[in-house]
Amino acid sequence: MRLADRVVVINDVRKHPDRYSSLFGRARSEVGHGICLCRTDETVRLVIRCRVGRYHLATWPAGGHQHAPGCSWYRSPSSMSGRSTYAEAISTTDTGTAIRLSTPLTVRGAAADKPAARRAESGVVQTARRSMGLLALLHFLWESARLNVWQPRGTPRDWRTCRTLLEEQADDCRVNQQPLTEALWIVPPFQREHSDRINTGWERFLGALVNVGRVRRRGLVIGEIRDIEKTQYGERIRLAHQRAPLYLSTKLMDRVRRSYPSAFSELATRSGRRQVVLCLVERSPRGYPTIVDLAAMLTNSSYLPADSSHEAEMADALVAAGRAFVKPLHYDGTEVFPDFVLIDDDPETYVEVWGVRGRESYEDRKRAKQALYRAAGRTLLEWDVRGSLPPLTRD
Ligand SMILES: [Zn+2]
Repeated sequence: MRLADRVVVINDVRKHPDRYSSLFGRARSEVGHGICLCRTDETVRLVIRCRVGRYHLATWPAGGHQHAPGCSWYRSPSSMSGRSTYAEAISTTDTGTAIRLSTPLTVRGAAADKPAARRAESGVVQTARRSMGLLALLHFLWESARLNVWQPRGTPRDWRTCRTLLEEQADDCRVNQQPLTEALWIVPPFQREHSDRINTGWERFLGALVNVGRVRRRGLVIGEIRDIEKTQYGERIRLAHQRAPLYLSTKLMDRVRRSYPSAFSELATRSGRRQVVLCLVERSPRGYPTIVDLAAMLTNSSYLPADSSHEAEMADALVAAGRAFVKPLHYDGTEVFPDFVLIDDDPETYVEVWGVRGRESYEDRKRAKQALYRAAGRTLLEWDVRGSLPPLTRD
């Protein structure tokens, strides 16, 4: 990449931003931005941000798709993302990204006694696009961290990779004016030699979720479900890599299962599938971490999101076929996107998985999608799940 008049190695800049401070300063005042050299046919700009005296680079807002698909700044195009409908909830500034979450992280007065679930549900209807719910935030973080993009020549993606990428994004965000890193616990990958440090971190996170008088502080937890069990009082979710479980009421768990049927279906819990959750957590009067709301996302084994088990199967097959692709994330909107987009074809190929049949609404939707893609002149790769997978390798 280029900073001011010098070509520098991006990994070195990322590792030692302090060494590049004066160059950053010069690039910012003289050029106004950095330049990524991933493409020869086009100049791709990078945002230079400065926070507490430290510079870092970020993808140009809505410009991530201009990078070469293999570039680490590449992001799926905004035309293929529910993000565009949240323009008012997400604002980018010189110091980072500010997000308005529909559920407050600090609850005061009588509101603290109302059930969170009901408030969140009504909130979605009233302020749908000016603030985001938990699913939209989860999709936003996943997309910003580039976890909805697959490149065949990458290292296998495990939870450690996901966490590192998510943390980088969280570092750049404020949620309801609070630094996201303060409010969010991204479950660290289990390492026996670091278990003391991890436990201390978790205790510190829980310790900040205090209830003083009628003020409750809440936090956010991102993790992968290991198992869910009934307890005497409700249900208990254990997350992968984490010893301490989270608790929730049976009523909330039932609602979550209804809201995210594909993430909690029989097929979804088969091996190779993952259930990633973003939980809004507070502490019970006795101090237990209690989930007051939850968004869930089904993924394949490489943490690529899928809207159904069949889609997860398609994602697996595309990975096996060595394809580069994007999974468009709808946030919680209703926009129509292809199930996957193959970005190693030019022009890109759309992929559709036709699963649920017979329901009239589904058939209508299917026809509408096919017509839309035809009109856009797109090549469509279709899989009717009654039959076998179509050939997916590139000729
Ligand atoms: Zn680039």
